[in-house]
Amino acid sequence: MRLSQSFIPTLKEIPKEAQIISHRLMLRAGLVRQTSSGIYTWLPMGLRVLRRISNIIREEQDRINAQEILMPTVQSAELWRRSGRYDAYGPEMLRIQDRHKRELLYGPTNEEMITDLFGQSIKSYKDLPQVLYQIQWKFRDELRPRFGVMRGREFLMKDAYSFDIDYASALTNYYRMVLSYLRIFQRLGVRAVPMRADTGPIGGDLSYEFLILAPTGESSVFYDAVLEEQDWLAEVVDYNSPEALEAFFRRLTVPYAATDEVHNIEAWEAVPTERRREGRGIEVGHIFYFGTKYTKSMGITVSGHDGLPFYPEMGSYGIGVSRLVGAIIEAQHDENGIIWPESVAPFRAVILNLKSGDNVCDNVCERLYMAAPQQLLYDDRMERAGVKFADADLMGHPWQIIVGARGASAGIVELKHRATGERREVSIDNVLTFIMAS
Ligand code: ATP
Ligand code: MG
Repeated sequence: MRLSQSFIPTLKEIPKEAQIISHRLMLRAGLVRQTSSGIYTWLPMGLRVLRRISNIIREEQDRINAQEILMPTVQSAELWRRSGRYDAYGPEMLRIQDRHKRELLYGPTNEEMITDLFGQSIKSYKDLPQVLYQIQWKFRDELRPRFGVMRGREFLMKDAYSFDIDYASALTNYYRMVLSYLRIFQRLGVRAVPMRADTGPIGGDLSYEFLILAPTGESSVFYDAVLEEQDWLAEVVDYNSPEALEAFFRRLTVPYAATDEVHNIEAWEAVPTERRREGRGIEVGHIFYFGTKYTKSMGITVSGHDGLPFYPEMGSYGIGVSRLVGAIIEAQHDENGIIWPESVAPFRAVILNLKSGDNVCDNVCERLYMAAPQQLLYDDRMERAGVKFADADLMGHPWQIIVGARGASAGIVELKHRATGERREVSIDNVLTFIMAS
């Protein structure tokens, strides 16, 4: 993309409603714009990041044989009356009426809809297990939308749902999802710690949240310091072995880690004093096992080995996709701006033409840009070098290819690594091979 022709409205003035760094940086770097309270438009740069995060989640969910579907955002109230949650959900649910005075709602989550879909389609135990997921917008009329996309009213969620024949196989799917989540967060370049959590309005009795530790997080957490260093994915776990998955989950959950809602003083006091950590975290994922709660309340059965009907066991598994954009920035930035992990960066590199209008510089930049225009941002603006450097640091591209007049005529560009600040001279012919391989 050529910066001179792109829609990346950067802001010089920091809007005062933006309290935390990720929100400020997202507005300044032109990733999103608020359209009304807690509702955002995703601009080209922000959308690229959102898509890259979604694609990593897709690849890892597909890897454990979860199947992607796409359900509507608008649901009927009737569906929620069947589970008994329509009245229970409260003012966070956006309730709508259509022209025939039928009651609808903008989905805050999809347990009812998927349970109904499942019930219409699956009749026999032979078709179990099933794991389905979607990446779809949700609406929750949050009391206090804040921190930009971190607590929006409309937000993008990956929500998966599992259906199993019995408790043991439901747990296997639950553990497999834990492993999938650890891989997802690792690929996203963040550390998300699994912690015991409350079940909230989803219900059920096995609930873990994945939290990125950060001082601006909204959740208070208590954890054993060994978790700060732990490399959970150091061991290879066989996704297909229920025993290996269970053993993995047991080891993973030995060190104490809990959100304040389920904090247990007795267990906490068993952690050696010098290892006790109290801090804050950003909830980026939440997984639930809730057994037959929805299949029972909605009357959904399938026929078992013996021909008799039974209620399938369920779990649901969320990831806050749009919240992750803010959370990643919260975890990866410095005083000059964003530092994107390579896996989610909107562009692999920015080309900084320090002398736009100069024949030699223009030619070198064009040649580099045209080699991979989808992955490169070309700063071809008639701006001072200082402005280009500052914007490149603000936007956080992993690499900056700096093209100056003297170097360009000698066949050399400067390459700056955003995360380390390290600079080196590289020949024009090798620079793209180098950054694409790194
Ligand atoms: P929170 O405690 O932050 O309100 P929740 O527990 O209500 O979240 P879940 O029902 O577990 O949320 O939803 C799954 C995931 O969706 C959460 O882990 C979070 O990452 C994300 N999420 C929930 N609410 C919001 C929101 N208002 N804005 C952005 N992301 C959200
Ligand atoms: Mg939650």
